Amino acid sequence: MSKKSVVSEAQEIQLAIELIQLGARLQLLETEVSLSRERLLKLYKELKGVSPPKGMLPFSTDWFLTWQPNIHSSLFINIHKFLIEHAGATGIHAVMKAYKLYLEQMPPEPGEEPLLSLTRAWTLVRFFQSDMLGLTSCEECKGKFVVNALDLNQGYRCGLCHMPSRAGKTRKARDAAALQAA
Ligand SMILES: [Zn+2]
Repeated sequence: MSKKSVVSEAQEIQLAIELIQLGARLQLLETEVSLSRERLLKLYKELKGVSPPKGMLPFSTDWFLTWQPNIHSSLFINIHKFLIEHAGATGIHAVMKAYKLYLEQMPPEPGEEPLLSLTRAWTLVRFFQSDMLGLTSCEECKGKFVVNALDLNQGYRCGLCHMPSRAGKTRKARDAAALQAA
């Protein structure tokens, strides 16, 4: 084996370790890391003490559009966009960097899993790349939020300005609360 391929293999192992520690599922690892499935399985088992869950990822775009996940997903994708546009981050490294920053902003409760897992965050980026999801500005707070790219998002109001438990703040919020209760 040449010196160069030894170096790149060490980098791939390092990448796999970091991804597994951040919670990556096997499908993500197989897509992003140039190591055989057998080696990835072995690394996963070594680090986690258990085999990775089997099967394909069940994620659809719907999850990212529900109330609380939408707020977390929007935060993550804004960080990711910033790193791509202003910090020269690319590919899986941009996803990892953005994910770590997301965890700093939204640390999970002790003993709890983060609401947005690394694998979901990675899936979110792929939904953006395939133009299934997009960003739109909230009419009220001007923040940018994840929306279905195929919807007409005119007059969009985000989940924070339209928080279900804060009915009565504005007429629109009252209307939304009434709709939810109906
Ligand atoms: Zn808003």
